[in-house]
Formats: sequence, structure tokens, C-alpha cells
Amino acid sequence: MMEKYKKSGQIVSKVRKMAVNHVKADMKIIDLIEYVENNIIEMGGMPAFPCNVSINEITAHYTSPPDDDSTIKRGDLVKIDLGAHVDGYIADSAVSILVGGDDTDLDPSEQDLNIKMIETAQNALESAINTIKEGIEIGKVGTAIEETINQNNLNSVSNLTGHGMDRWILHSGVSVPNIKEDNKHIIQEGDVLAIEPFVTNGIGRVGDMNDTYIFRFLRNRPMRIVQARKLLKIIENYRSLPFSQRWLTEHINSKQLNMAMRHLLSSRAIYPYHVLKEKSNARVAQAEHTVIVESDGCKIITK
Ligand code: MN
Ligand code: MN
Repeated sequence: MMEKYKKSGQIVSKVRKMAVNHVKADMKIIDLIEYVENNIIEMGGMPAFPCNVSINEITAHYTSPPDDDSTIKRGDLVKIDLGAHVDGYIADSAVSILVGGDDTDLDPSEQDLNIKMIETAQNALESAINTIKEGIEIGKVGTAIEETINQNNLNSVSNLTGHGMDRWILHSGVSVPNIKEDNKHIIQEGDVLAIEPFVTNGIGRVGDMNDTYIFRFLRNRPMRIVQARKLLKIIENYRSLPFSQRWLTEHINSKQLNMAMRHLLSSRAIYPYHVLKEKSNARVAQAEHTVIVESDGCKIITK
């Protein structure tokens, strides 16, 4: 088991670094996403969820739909969130980049603010990881995150959290708060936790958009429509892990795919993850690592 976590962690770490070097102004989002997902597979893993590329005030859960034409622009704050699993053992990590670095068309103060948000997300992640060991209350992790962010006069996104993970399960039910919270849940040795602070200069809350590009299998349902029935069989192979509509285009033509997805959604056979946007339309930076809790600290598998 530890060997498999080590492998999925190394894959995510390598591919995350490759992705940072690969991002360029004017590239298509879908090209970055496919680069990430293909490299995970080439290295012997499987994507644990569709690679998320969420830009500026779009905070999470954006992955390209099939034939996505949208592009990344100079001055965009790009969050790349990727996961890989080896035999169900998941590693989850994210990084934020200001495209163009310190040479964008943004106002200098705006550019500095973006860079500060990215650095603060990394620092908040680091201070959170420094608190983690067997026996601590999970609320302490949120305190470390929010204090680091507030010290920089920025806000933590309060309604997004990190999460415990289990084999084949991306969200085990344990939430890791990103704000000071009186949560007395005790962290145990061997717990696998994804820690993921989000930093903004806005109000620090996200809300659902209408768009959904990521889904999860919920339950088998009798489907009258043959295409929906066929699609559900394919989707069951992802178990409870999230998948994208883009991944299904090799099995079924796009018109039938849209129709079948609508049927699966309305019969609640699959669950939609809405794209999340910061409610005051402010930009958001994110950093994330997966750790395994030890008696005197934790091991960062995605370092
Ligand atoms: Mn993630
Ligand atoms: Mn995560």
C-alpha cells in the first residue's frame, strides 16, 4: 500500500512540475489538461479525477468539455489541480501560476497582488502541514491556514476544504477546514489527507455556476434509453472516482453522449460537480499536497 502511495505521489509531483513548465500564454486549456492526463498514464498511473484548470475567479471544478476552444491568456492566474491513482491509492495536488510571471499586462499593483496570493497559498499549505501529526485536532489545521492568510491581509475561501482520502475514495468524509474552526476530530496515524488552502482578496466564498464538466457515478438505475444504459456500464468502471464527459467521447458520438448524460443526471445515476466561482468575482490562488499522517509529523507524498 505505501509503495502504491509513493508511486502515485511521485507521478503527481513530476507531472505537476512538468505542467508548470508547459503552461504558455495563448495555449488551449484542453491541451494543458490532456498533457497532464496523458503524462499520468504514461508514467503508470491513472487520473484519479479529470485534471482541473480553473482560471482567475473560477476557483475549482473546471475541466475542458469535449472540443473546448477556450485559451489561457497572459496575466491569467491559473490553478492546475491534478490527481493520480495507482490501484486506487490516490495522490492529489495543486499549484497556481501567474501566466507571464512578473511580465504581464496587468497593473503593477495587480500583478504584485496575484504573486502574493500564490505565495500565500503555498505558505498557508506549509504552515498547515507543519501542524499535522497523530493526535492533533483537525481544527488546528484550519487555524494555521487562516492565520497565515490573514497575516498577509488576504482571505481564505471558507466554504472549500481539504479532505481525507481512502482507497478509491477521493473524499472520505473527513473535511480539513481552511478557516479557524472548533472541529475536535482527532487526526490518526495513517490518515491520508489532502490539504488545500484557497487564497483571495475577495470575500472568500464560492458558489455554484450552472456549468458542469465533472461527474461521479452514484447508483445503478434501470435506463430505458439504450445509449444511457450503455454509457452507465462504461461509467461504472470509474467506481466512485470523478470523470469528465470528455473521457467518454471515444465510446459514443457527441449528440448521443449529450442525450445519455442528461438521462443519467435526471435519473440521479450520476452526480454533477458544478464549476465553482468566487462570489465577489475576485481571483483565487490554490496550493495542495497529499500527506500521510505519522506519529511525529507527516509524509508529503506529492512534494
Ligand atoms: Mn486537488
Ligand atoms: Mn483535493
